[in-house]
Amino acid sequence: MNRDELRRYLTFYQDLGVKNIYKRSAAAAVSAASAAAPAPVREPAGVSVSELPPLAPSGDTLAKIIADIGDCKRCRLCEQRSKIVFGSGNENARLVFVGEGPGADEDAQGLPFVGRAGQLLTQMIDNTASKEGIPIKRPDVYICNVVKCRPPENRTPLPDEMEICGEFLFRQLMTIRPKAICALGSTAAKALLATKDGVTRLRGKWHKWRDIPVMVTYHPSYLLRPYNQDAKREAWEDLKKVLHFVYD
Ligand code: URA
Repeated sequence: MNRDELRRYLTFYQDLGVKNIYKRSAAAAVSAASAAAPAPVREPAGVSVSELPPLAPSGDTLAKIIADIGDCKRCRLCEQRSKIVFGSGNENARLVFVGEGPGADEDAQGLPFVGRAGQLLTQMIDNTASKEGIPIKRPDVYICNVVKCRPPENRTPLPDEMEICGEFLFRQLMTIRPKAICALGSTAAKALLATKDGVTRLRGKWHKWRDIPVMVTYHPSYLLRPYNQDAKREAWEDLKKVLHFVYD
């Protein structure tokens, strides 16, 4: 790869919101570090081209992305995971939901949103669509997460984990190219919009990831808490907006 190609390559990732490039060998450093406080493992872009993540090839497919993820050991989240949770649903979906990361049920089954929060998400999609006269159900959309491995104790993914795994999330989104994305909660909003604003500020309005409209709404886990009834109503409003935008 010559200098121009390298510049184009790095600009491509910069346009996607990627600010750091990680060496493939980062996981080895992580193993030792993770016993103590999980320190970010950040290598400067010391540019040996063979160490850069692969550019999303023009004929990218979800199958290729899964193959590239492989038995991923790029970050510390590999250490305690049972299964990588890539995503599920319609590969040609017009709507993609992005969550934070797998929980215990998802880690065990290798599928996103299959626990309590997932059941609520299914109800939200199916019931809202049905009430609004939109003929879709959960299998018609695509669902994935920012990080593909379960963070220990369901903690929030760390910035370097989000950036490393974000490479695959972005490829998934570029491959599916939905008409809209629904970001569930602040981790998904941060990953897609590179913002520090919280969900309360961001929700209900349209944003953009590259040229794709993004609606931010509350994460279903947050809606499961009994004292968040107002948020539940707002999430339903957000979802109605998304569904009508995508399917009308
Ligand atoms: N929470 C998420 O963010 N993703 C899942 O897949 C499950 C719960």
